[in-house]
Amino acid sequence: MRIHEHTAKKIFQGEGIPVPPSQLVETPQEAQKAAENIGKPVALKAQVLVGGRGKAGGIKLVDDLSQVYKTAEELFGSKIKGESVKKLLVEEKLDIKSEFYVSISMDRSARKPIVMACLDGGMEIEELARENPDKIVKHYVNPLEEFLPYQAREIARKMGVENRIISKVGSIILDLFRVFKKYDATTAEINPLVLTDEGIMAADAKLIIDDDAFYRQKKIAEIENIPKDKFAYVKLPGNIAVIGNGAGLTLSGMDMLKLFGGEPATFLDIGGGASEENISKAIQLVISNENVKVVFLNVLGGITRADDVARGVLNVLKASERDVPIVIRLTGTNEDEGQRILAEAGLSFETSMEEAAKKAVKICNSMD
Ligand code: GDP
Ligand code: MN
Repeated sequence: MRIHEHTAKKIFQGEGIPVPPSQLVETPQEAQKAAENIGKPVALKAQVLVGGRGKAGGIKLVDDLSQVYKTAEELFGSKIKGESVKKLLVEEKLDIKSEFYVSISMDRSARKPIVMACLDGGMEIEELARENPDKIVKHYVNPLEEFLPYQAREIARKMGVENRIISKVGSIILDLFRVFKKYDATTAEINPLVLTDEGIMAADAKLIIDDDAFYRQKKIAEIENIPKDKFAYVKLPGNIAVIGNGAGLTLSGMDMLKLFGGEPATFLDIGGGASEENISKAIQLVISNENVKVVFLNVLGGITRADDVARGVLNVLKASERDVPIVIRLTGTNEDEGQRILAEAGLSFETSMEEAAKKAVKICNSMD
């Protein structure tokens, strides 16, 4: 999941990376006021989750503060690569001497984080790699060892930055690595990292959090105001609601159902590590659809715990007004506890997806 620039900047700053003074606004009035508070020329930056905002017209530099309202109004009314602009970051305009590129991402084939850095920043890394691949410094971090200050300084030195700023750039690379680990990122990028008369700072900030770890990144969910019970949910024309944990498993559940002659009424992926409460909400959501005759809950616990699932099911059965049969396939993490909870409540369950799908179709057919 990609995080907005303003949130990423807060996170970066919290780990010691300098960022320019800024304020997040939602109206042209607020933008005007924020610019006056800053009292210097500003950059108005559209908070959209797309790369290359600058080129697409999402960043406006305003020297004459009387023009802020009008410029902000134009930005709010615009779309940047298809995404409408709801928030702007009003930031002190920087007098940029040089732009560098620094990023840390997960190299899946090497199974290690990789630091990439380049003296020429500003453009996208893909473009950099095409035009000047030899100028990109690459350093793999051994996940079993500590990433040390001298290694970060070595990267800065290889980039070719001036001697007097090697240690500062090195320490920012270390800070960025701390962000990467602490926030379960798959990418943490500063492009550009800029040199000004005031020092070195992150003019832009990009942070992508691993979706499977998002459940434990509560601070980010809070700043970004992301609802905790966001499901991947699609309504379909059939009458058996399919709920699974993970998109692949949910799709397999649908396939299995079709194989035995059933028709899915939903695709609902509760994601990894869903809470008891979210399981209840997911079931409530699907049975609020009157076409749904049977619920097929297909859980293979990994991060998701089978006991949480079982409790979520019991809670919903207690609270719900509609009496819809739920066919449960429950295995994986804490399965003994989960299956015990269901059995004690007099509920049956399956451990094989195939058996559960068959049963769901059978129950559904017997209801006609
Ligand atoms: P991106 O296009 O989405 O990557 O947005 P960035 O925040 O990286 O901005 C793109 C480019 O706009 C940067 O590389 C800078 O050249 C320029 N830019 C951004 N902020 C400022 C600023 O405060 N002052 C100046 N002079 N240029 C800026
Ligand atoms: Mn950028």
